[in-house]
Amino acid sequence: MIPFLDLKKINTPYETAFQQKMKTVLENGWYILGEEVRAFESNFATYCGAKYCIGVGKGFDALVLIFKGYIELAKLKKGDEVIVPANTYIASILAILEADLIPVLVEPKFETYNINSDLIEEKITLKTKAILVVHLYGQLAEMKVINAIAINHNLLVIEDAAQAHGAIANSKFQIPNRKLQKAGNRSDAAAFSFYPGKNLGALGDGGAITTNDSALAQIVFSLRNYGSVTKYYNDYAGVNSRLDELQAAFLNVKLPHLDAENEKRRTIAKRYLTEIENDKIQLPKWNLSNNHVFHLFVIRTENRMELKQYLHENGIQTVIHYPVPPHKQKALPDYNMLSFPITEKIHETVLSLPISPVLTTEEVTFIIAILNKY
Ligand SMILES: *Cc1c(COP(=O)(O)O)cnc(C)c1O
Repeated sequence: MIPFLDLKKINTPYETAFQQKMKTVLENGWYILGEEVRAFESNFATYCGAKYCIGVGKGFDALVLIFKGYIELAKLKKGDEVIVPANTYIASILAILEADLIPVLVEPKFETYNINSDLIEEKITLKTKAILVVHLYGQLAEMKVINAIAINHNLLVIEDAAQAHGAIANSKFQIPNRKLQKAGNRSDAAAFSFYPGKNLGALGDGGAITTNDSALAQIVFSLRNYGSVTKYYNDYAGVNSRLDELQAAFLNVKLPHLDAENEKRRTIAKRYLTEIENDKIQLPKWNLSNNHVFHLFVIRTENRMELKQYLHENGIQTVIHYPVPPHKQKALPDYNMLSFPITEKIHETVLSLPISPVLTTEEVTFIIAILNKY
């Protein structure tokens, strides 16, 4: 069986370095917000081309703490509306609700699965105060257009970059010495997840916020640690959501290899896009630039369960991201009556093929051959 994602195989090359790091942390005897977290925050800020990085407990908390930080800064308030793609992973929407804000859903485009920026302005009301952009499946959303809309309407832009570590816009046209336009530096603030299955994955939960906004950074540094910077002096009603010292140590080992791993994913994606030839399968659109890090390779097909079963019988494991759109989930009863036909069609037809830095050339060849025989 070709597994959908072999996490053990992904982490095996780093085992010796992980063990070395565990030894270091044990020897230091400092387990919360120590040297490894500080080093990772500095490394990841530099990697993303952002001024600040704040390590937190998970991707969900990164989103919530950005919203709560902007509420403390009075740039957002309870009941404000936040625009978000209707087909995102539900965590984006639950984070908006957790901060007492109101998610306003917008349809995506079939071709990229990202928010349709042409449909944003018609959803803007007097209560709209932010756009939560999601770089879904690893592909950057249309940030230039979205940032222009935000400037026109005085909105905050927040990136949910949980699936897009390392994605770079306009990589074919970068001006030398100009800062790269990267996931995590294209908005007011960005949220990342280091859940083990993400492109940069820890060995447990982890997350981070990147931002160039010094006021937000200061507040979030405090909010993640009970609203305190100086121990036992609490400036805000914060939470406990700190990036774990050991997870930060593991991430410090893996970060230098992220670009090479993303490149391997892109190489596989290029083969899928050029070699899969089957009228029953619709392939995703991509401009072959580094704007996509292929967290997932998502195809569409009319009879999805039949294809999934066929691949399973041929020893290929696939996963559906995601089977039910957020507005149809029991968790969001207030949204159940709404209709988003493109989102619903996407959720009825998508299927994710195996893609990872450890999938072999032979496995890719086999998957393509089986798909072309379907
Ligand atoms: C994984 C993910 C999250 C949540 O991250 P956690 O670390 O699991 O809390 C949020 N948004 C998107 C798009 C994700 O893929």
